[in-house]
Amino acid sequence: MSTLKAVRGTRDLLPPETALWNRIETTARAVFARYNFGEIRTPVFEDTALFARGVGEETDIVSKEMYTWEDRARAQSEKTQTLTLRPENTAGVVRAYIEHQLGNTGDLQKLYYIGPQFRRERPQKGRYRQFSQIGAEVIGPPSAGSESPLRDAEVLEMLATLLDELGITGWTLHLNSVGSAADRARYNDALRAALVPVVGRMCVDCQRRAVTNPLRVLDCKVPEDQPIIDTLPMIADSLDEASQAHFAAVTAALDAAGVPYTRNHRLVRGLDYYTRTTFEFTHGGLGAQNALLGGGRYDGLSEMLGGPRAPGIGFAMGEDRLVLTLLAQESAAPQVVADAFIAPLGDAKNADALARMNAAALALARELRRAGLRIELGDGSFRLKKSFEAADKTARSIVILGEDELQSGILTVKTFSTGIQTKVPRTELAAFLSS
Ligand code: AMP
Repeated sequence: MSTLKAVRGTRDLLPPETALWNRIETTARAVFARYNFGEIRTPVFEDTALFARGVGEETDIVSKEMYTWEDRARAQSEKTQTLTLRPENTAGVVRAYIEHQLGNTGDLQKLYYIGPQFRRERPQKGRYRQFSQIGAEVIGPPSAGSESPLRDAEVLEMLATLLDELGITGWTLHLNSVGSAADRARYNDALRAALVPVVGRMCVDCQRRAVTNPLRVLDCKVPEDQPIIDTLPMIADSLDEASQAHFAAVTAALDAAGVPYTRNHRLVRGLDYYTRTTFEFTHGGLGAQNALLGGGRYDGLSEMLGGPRAPGIGFAMGEDRLVLTLLAQESAAPQVVADAFIAPLGDAKNADALARMNAAALALARELRRAGLRIELGDGSFRLKKSFEAADKTARSIVILGEDELQSGILTVKTFSTGIQTKVPRTELAAFLSS
């Protein structure tokens, strides 16, 4: 056995599980299309500065999880650059929005993406170093209504619809507002002050966060710290009137649409660019890594990246976690079964005859596949018993193609579910196998 293995935190996805991945992506694309989103594909690696500025130097992602390297110049016309495998996709989308001056259209840009992201995290169930996100962003100039709370509600309603259509039951939508940058600054001060007398009794991480980024204390999972965190001020109390009104309009629209949510005062999220609405959908079946997706509003991100004012809201779903949830719900990946197994029969000792039957079988397979059927092709050197065994494992039926069948154009088909053997004219075979 080779000692070369997939790198820690990465994995191979194999059939039949990949069928589930495809189903998720197909459903997501169909739902996004109904909400009039278009697909964007940004590069897998970007200039490191994009993430440092867009995600925030203080965040775990930027400070310790990025795959970054010096890309040496290969010609005099090139510069040595520091590049990073994207740890998330919002910064890349907003960079593209600015680069292509999409704001000049005056319209809202509604963009979705599906693709791999990379973070050097400690791998565990539901947490990988290469993982896939399905995400979307609604971004545009304020004149296009990009700040409207209706956009937030519409995105959340779309997510509820998508999860329902994927067949994921029992999700919870956690909702909060982190307010404007000024609200957050006020809250940071309040939190810092409230932490002074209690932080000595908290974990070492919290002691560090209390100094560097007090908001992150709210993400702490250490059980002993929870009663202390419960006594800390809530961001809701630091929101100004405009932020409060924005949040009230989001929840009113969700109520009207019948999308259930719970207010989670501790949901401040790890990325620096969030403003106002923040949200997470969780699922009880996932264990410690229970977030199916997260997102929120980022009204200042475009300006942070040197672009025009372009408020926006977006989310990223962990596709790996959607798969885990569906596998747990359905208890197994769907088995993909072919419509038919074609079994050419011939005299194994007669090479010419065998070659002729195999060629005839390939022609028949081509005909049926072109008619849209899923076909497994056997080999004329198989004996009848072996063909039946192989067919039984992979297909719903077996089509026997011997010398007689070839001459007469009448094929023998056995349907495994009923055990019935039928003679079917070749011209009717595709219709027969589809029924
Ligand atoms: P974030 O960009 O951190 O808000 O993550 C959004 C979603 O991506 C999370 O809710 C997870 O479902 C998923 N996710 C984030 N990090 C990972 C990871 N290392 N492995 C698998 N899924 C992840």
